Amino acid sequence: MSEVTAYGSVDEATTILQGTLQRELSYTIALKVQPPAQDTNYTIEEESDFLEYSGRPTYSPIQEEKDIIESSNGFRICILENIGDNGSYIVDKCQFYSQWNLMEKIDVYIPVKIEISKLAVDEPEDYVAEEVSAIVELLDPPENIDIIRGPQGTGRNGANFVKNLVHKENGGDNCPSTYAPREFRERCRSLQDSVDKVQKIILDERKRQFQVYSENPNAVEVPIKSLEERVDENSNKVRKIGYARILLHFPPIAGNNYRLKIKLINRNRQDVKIRDKNNPDLYLLYVQTPTITIWKKIKIEMVALQEEVYYSDMKWWIVKSAFADAFIDIEEPPSGKRYAITRDEWMKYLGEEVYRRWRRREWREYSKPVYVNEHIQDFSQYSFPQQHPNIPGSQNLTPPDDNPNSPNKDTWTFLESMARRIFREKLGRRNYNRLRNPRRGYNIGVCALICKPPFNGSGVGGLSFFNKMFYIVSGTGMEMTFAHEFGHALFLRHAPTFFVRNSDIPYTTRYEGGGSEGPYWDEHDSEDMITCTMSYTDTNEWHFCGLCILTLRLYDRKHMVEGEDDTLRRILYQRMPTVYWVESTDRETSPGVFVSWRTLHQNPPQQLMVGEELRLIALYPPEGVLDNQGMDYHKDLTKHDRGSWVSTNRRVGRVNVVKRGNFWHARIKIVGKGRTEIKFRLRRNQNEFDESAPLVLEVI
Ligand SMILES: [Zn+2]
Ligand SMILES: [Zn+2]
Repeated sequence: MSEVTAYGSVDEATTILQGTLQRELSYTIALKVQPPAQDTNYTIEEESDFLEYSGRPTYSPIQEEKDIIESSNGFRICILENIGDNGSYIVDKCQFYSQWNLMEKIDVYIPVKIEISKLAVDEPEDYVAEEVSAIVELLDPPENIDIIRGPQGTGRNGANFVKNLVHKENGGDNCPSTYAPREFRERCRSLQDSVDKVQKIILDERKRQFQVYSENPNAVEVPIKSLEERVDENSNKVRKIGYARILLHFPPIAGNNYRLKIKLINRNRQDVKIRDKNNPDLYLLYVQTPTITIWKKIKIEMVALQEEVYYSDMKWWIVKSAFADAFIDIEEPPSGKRYAITRDEWMKYLGEEVYRRWRRREWREYSKPVYVNEHIQDFSQYSFPQQHPNIPGSQNLTPPDDNPNSPNKDTWTFLESMARRIFREKLGRRNYNRLRNPRRGYNIGVCALICKPPFNGSGVGGLSFFNKMFYIVSGTGMEMTFAHEFGHALFLRHAPTFFVRNSDIPYTTRYEGGGSEGPYWDEHDSEDMITCTMSYTDTNEWHFCGLCILTLRLYDRKHMVEGEDDTLRRILYQRMPTVYWVESTDRETSPGVFVSWRTLHQNPPQQLMVGEELRLIALYPPEGVLDNQGMDYHKDLTKHDRGSWVSTNRRVGRVNVVKRGNFWHARIKIVGKGRTEIKFRLRRNQNEFDESAPLVLEVI
C-alpha cells in the first residue's frame, strides 16, 4: 500500500484529498449526452457566453455527443412548453395541464451513458463486466437568487420572496413536493429535506429504479455491466470499456437545478481510484458534472407589425430577461415570421373585419383613394381612422369606447378581430384552428400583433384573447405591455388594475370591469403586487412578483394557497389590515374644482343611530413602492377570497359585502342599540386567521 494524494477538481475551487492506494488499477469516467433527435421536446444546451447587460449567461444547444464531466460550463435542459391559456373554465395552470395531459408532454427522460475505462498502471486494460459500480449522487446546488429583479425601494421583491419560501444557502432549494404539481411530487424533496428523490430521478434505460447506495441515501448504485470495444487513441489497440445507460427523469419545474457526483466501487464495495482524463497524474475520489438547470422554452410563432412599427422598436432583451427570472427562454420568431402589414393591407382588414357591419357607409366614404393623404396621416400614427373635416362621417369611425361598464370594449373587440384575421392569414386556417387545442397546437408558438394606438388618449395597451394570441399597442413601455399580455397567455391573472386616488389614503381595490378584472389577491405577493408586471400601475419598475415567478416556473400555486401546508399563507398578508368607515364628501382640489372624496375614519362616528348605514373598508398597509405619480397604495381587502367581516354583536348590525357597479362595498346597517366590534379577518387555516384591530361602534 502506498499513500497517494488525489487532487479533485470540484466546482471552481480545487481541493486536495487524501486517499489510500490499494492496487495499481484506476479508471476514468465519462458521462455522455447526445443532442436529442429532431422531433424531441427538449434541447441540451451549454453555457456559451455571458451577457453583461442582462447579468445572465447565454446557452447554445450541443451539436454532438458531449462528455458533461469534462465541461466547466453550466448546462441547461430546455423543455419546449408552448402551452397557453385557452380561456376555458379551467383558469388554474396546473389543473389545465393535468386536464389536457400536458404534464406528460413536458416530462422528459434524458438518456445518459456512463462509460468506464480501465487502466493498469498506465496502460489501458480490458474492462470486465460488473467489476465496478458507479455510485451516482444527486446534488441540488443553490439557485443564484440575486439575478432576480425587483423594484427599487424598501419593499419585498421576487428575489426575497423566492428566498423566503424555497431558497437555501447551501443548496437543497429545488421545488419541494408540497409546492409541486401532483404529477411530480414523488420526485421532489420534502420541505424539511434538502435532497430530491434520487431513486425516482435516476432510472435504468427501461425506466426501472436502481438500489439506493447503502452509505448515502442521496445516491444510487449503477452496476457497470455492458461492454463495448474501443480503439485506444495512444496505443491503437482495441480494448473493452464498460458502460451503463441511464435516464435522468428530473421533474420539469423550471429553476430546479442538479449536479451528478460519481464515484466507483469495486466488488468488495471499496472505493477505487479515478483518474482525471485531462491530467492522468491526478487521482480523484469522485467526478462531478457542472450544474444542470431546468429551463422552459416558449416560442413566439410570429410578430405582425402595423406599417412603420419595426421589430427592433421592441427591446427584446428586456422582455426576455423578465421571463428569465422564471427560467423561461422566450424564443424570438425567425426573421421570415416578422410580418410587416402595409397600410393597404391594414385598411383592407379594417374594411372586412371592423367596418363591414358597423359604420359601413362612413367607411365607404373614408376609404376612397381621393383621401389617400388622410389615410397616410392617420395610419402613420394610429390604428383607426381619425376625424377629418373634409371627410363626411369620419368622426364616427374611431372606436367610441363609450360603454360605461367596460370603457375600452370597442377598441378591444375591433383590434381582436384585426389580430385574429392577420394570424389566420399568416398561419393558414389549419394551424390557426390548431391553436385552440393545447395538444394538437403544441408546436405552434405565441402569435403577437404590434399596432399603433387606436387614437390619441386611448387607454388600450393590449389584450390577450387566449389560445396563445395577443396584440399590444406600440409606444413607450411596450416591453412591459408585451410581458403583461404574454403573462396572461401563460395563465397569469391581474394584480391591481384600479387605483382610488381621491381618498385620504390612496388604495387599490378589486375591480370587475370586463377585461380589466383584478386584483386576484392570492395570485400575487401581497408585498410586491403594485409593480408586478400583471398590474396596471404607472411604473418603470415592473417585474414579475415572486408568486408570478413561481407560477411561471410551474409551481402549483393553487395548491400552495389552498392546500394543507400553510407556509405560503403565512407569508402572504402577514401584516394587519385596518378597518375604517368611509365618508363620501366633496373636496375642493383647486379653487372652484370639486371632486368626490373618500374621507376615512378610524374612530367611530359620534351619535350613531338605529337605521343608519355605514360603509366600511379594510385597508392593508402599503408596500413602500411608489408609482410614477409618487403614490404608495394601500390595498382594500374588502373582497378577498379568504376574507370575511365579523361583527361581535349582530343585534347591533352585521356587515354585508355588496356589489356596486364594478366594485365591492362593505356596509353595516345599524339595526339595534348596543355595542359591537367590527373586524376584518383573513382565514389562514380552518381554525386560524389574521385579524384587524376592531372598530368599535356604540349605538345609544
Ligand atoms: Zn391584462
Ligand atoms: Zn404577480
